[in-house]
Amino acid sequence: MRKQWLVKTRSVRPATKYGGKDVVDIPRERLDQYRNLKRDFKEEKYINLNPIQRGGILTLEAREALLEFGDGYSTCDWCPPKEARLDAIKRPPIAQFMRDLAEFLNMDVARVVTRCREAQFIVFATLGEPGDYVVVDSLAHYSTYIAAELARMKIKEVPHTGYPEFKLDLNAYADKIEEVRRDTGKLPAAVLLTHVDYLYGNLNDAAAVGKICKKYGVPFILNAAYTAGVMPVDGKKLGADIIVSSGHKSWAASAPTGILAIKEEFAEKVLARSKTVGDWSKRKFGLKEYALLGCTVMGAPLMSLMASFPHVVERVKRWGEEVENARYLVEQLERIEGTRQMGTKPKQHTLIHMESDGLYKASQTHKRRGFFLYDELKRRGIVGIQPGLTKHFKLNSYGLPREKVELVANAFLDIAREQGLNVS
Ligand SMILES: *Cc1c(COP(=O)(O)O)cnc(C)c1O
Repeated sequence: MRKQWLVKTRSVRPATKYGGKDVVDIPRERLDQYRNLKRDFKEEKYINLNPIQRGGILTLEAREALLEFGDGYSTCDWCPPKEARLDAIKRPPIAQFMRDLAEFLNMDVARVVTRCREAQFIVFATLGEPGDYVVVDSLAHYSTYIAAELARMKIKEVPHTGYPEFKLDLNAYADKIEEVRRDTGKLPAAVLLTHVDYLYGNLNDAAAVGKICKKYGVPFILNAAYTAGVMPVDGKKLGADIIVSSGHKSWAASAPTGILAIKEEFAEKVLARSKTVGDWSKRKFGLKEYALLGCTVMGAPLMSLMASFPHVVERVKRWGEEVENARYLVEQLERIEGTRQMGTKPKQHTLIHMESDGLYKASQTHKRRGFFLYDELKRRGIVGIQPGLTKHFKLNSYGLPREKVELVANAFLDIAREQGLNVS
């Protein structure tokens, strides 16, 4: 076989035979756009206020880890043959990291998955059966709803108050659990609370929901996508049975990375091993955690999460300063005529939702209409406010040093004054 192949390649053969006709070719001009890719809004050049960006800015260590572990399955050189799973790898120290991650969240077992949404799906699919209910807060991220949908489960929502606080009625978790029991004769498969919601940045009292879940014996999932990794989160104190979070949102890691942390009593169910047997070959895969499809993030993104972990362990201790910065920014923005913070006050998180009748009024007569705010901020080196929005917009001050928070505040005040708005 091999000899034949050698003879063939030596013989003079038109390149088109293999490189031409039978192979799809992409025009060079189109391929050129993929060379030397650049990002417009790099951290060194702009202050990016987009709420989803602030907690995911890499540490220097994580940037270096990306290069070191950039090749394909770079974490898998020392995969132990007897355990044959990502979380068992000792070199690099992935196995230890899983234990440290669990300890940091005061949970028992941890895994890294691709995203918070995947963690939610894994938990829904393993804790319940198709047709079961999950009780969720009505400010949950869309991915919570979709993860439940893919797990073929039904949703029961806990309501929230209206304008301007949009506060969840946490006591209603008990009512909704009762409602599901009354209507189906069965408890919901799980309860989920979004620790801080992505719309208003309201922080919820997770411990209160934890107590309700304990009373009913329903597993409590805390969605800590906007909290774990930026602020202290103690799973046991909050009564969480499962914590899900997002590495690229809140742990200074690259996408895709998600965190799944579990209390011992649910680990067996969520991390159940494969039982499938090939009907003809009798092949089995009993070491693999089937809901994780065996292995998850087997390369650079996981290494970025690990490389940033020492920084993350430290940074959550400075959460108090972060909240102060957010409150300062709100106070400054509210100096602009007709401008107020949405959600509960005072801020307990750095994700801020502002309403501004003033900036909206200015947009009505501006030649760039609603885009003027985006343009004016960008001119001042600030991005991340959604282009076109003035009446309602979101921003996140997380991780900005005080000088930069002041720079942002002054930029807004300047823009408002330029538009002839009152600044108190
Ligand atoms: C951003 C966010 C998610 C999605 O996180 P991924 O890691 O991208 O899946 C899920 N839930 C909440 C509450 C979020 O804010």
